[in-house]
Amino acid sequence: MKIGVLSFQGGVVEHLNQIKRLGHDSIEVKKESDLNDIDAIILPGGESTTIGKLLNITQLMEPLREKIKAGLPTWGTCAGMILLAKEIEAKKINYLATMDIKVKRNAFGTQIDSFKVNKIIEEVSDKEIELVFIRAPYITEVKNNVEILCKVDNNIVAVKQDNMIATSFHPELTDDLTFLKYFLDNVEEKNINRTFCCEKVL
Ligand code: GLN
Repeated sequence: MKIGVLSFQGGVVEHLNQIKRLGHDSIEVKKESDLNDIDAIILPGGESTTIGKLLNITQLMEPLREKIKAGLPTWGTCAGMILLAKEIEAKKINYLATMDIKVKRNAFGTQIDSFKVNKIIEEVSDKEIELVFIRAPYITEVKNNVEILCKVDNNIVAVKQDNMIATSFHPELTDDLTFLKYFLDNVEEKNINRTFCCEKVL
């Protein structure tokens, strides 16, 4: 498959490398035409305000939002989760605003409060995976069909809704490909469903 990574700022290279390690093509997404032929997109961690500004400057915000709404499988990590959120605590603006979550930025504290924790996320694997949090947000409210995948200290840090997954943590900063594999399995399933659905209609 061809997996895009939004490539303005933040942990881009780490995602591109992990996608390649799982045997897929990784594509840097910087402009509208880069969206044409990808099977999924990853929105990396970084600084959501900066990435948000660049999405506007490059005029990628609107076409990306439309693609996600139309079903493009999307995984937002950390700042990427903030970009997906319909609501951001203490802020009037939002960015892609496609996911029914409210997020709190830097909710676990500042850079020096960054931490790691090992946890089993049942939906993802029966083995513990390492979760890395860096100036991480957490989710303070979910609505509609948002499914909670993981909590840390009773705070929501991983969710899924339709074609979207969002995590407060950074699997791409560990050596463990389990979470990426989980995302790509979801992408493959969706593709199968799509083919099945279209064949049926025809
Ligand atoms: N604190 C950053 C923000 O608000 C997110 C940090 C990260 O992506 N590691 O955008």
